[in-house]
Amino acid sequence: MAKPKIPVWLARSEAQVEEDEREQGLRRASFTRAKLTEAERLVSRGKLLEATHKANLETALADGNEERVIFGRANLAEAKAMYGDYTGASVVHPDPERQTHFRNLQKAIDKPDDKDCRCKPDRAKFNDVEIEIPLTKIERMIYSPLHGDVVGLEVCNKCGARNARLVRGVHATAHAHMGRGKSDVEVLKVT
Ligand SMILES: [Zn+2]
Repeated sequence: MAKPKIPVWLARSEAQVEEDEREQGLRRASFTRAKLTEAERLVSRGKLLEATHKANLETALADGNEERVIFGRANLAEAKAMYGDYTGASVVHPDPERQTHFRNLQKAIDKPDDKDCRCKPDRAKFNDVEIEIPLTKIERMIYSPLHGDVVGLEVCNKCGARNARLVRGVHATAHAHMGRGKSDVEVLKVT
């Protein structure tokens, strides 16, 4: 079978093809690296903090210092949460409210990404233009071991249903403007 003829104006030199491939490869690499860096950073930092707070907690336990033990447990739990061990964090944290918070984060991660609540977005008119009011907002960015990445904790403005999933749709656009990959986990205080 004869090869289809490529029009002259469509044919590209080997050098051009190579250049295109190189550029695509670079884009792919930098994209992957940027995504991995944020997730990897949270995981490595969380693990590092975990080791420190674990050692502090062990010292406090050996000393029988009740106050330092409670403090140490809280710090250890926050470190675990940073790298996505929310179940571990819920067990270790001394505060029942915080325990519930971590359990809820795990539930939000485990919930299938395509599962939405049944609420319908409201519509409103501004200067005779009807717009749809976003039904959900991204409460914060968290690391999800299940996704292997930083995900958005998406909350329904009406019923409060939560789903931790990759940022998408209208949020992806807004998020891109804010600087994708930034996580408010960073603001966790280290003491
Ligand atoms: Zn809802």
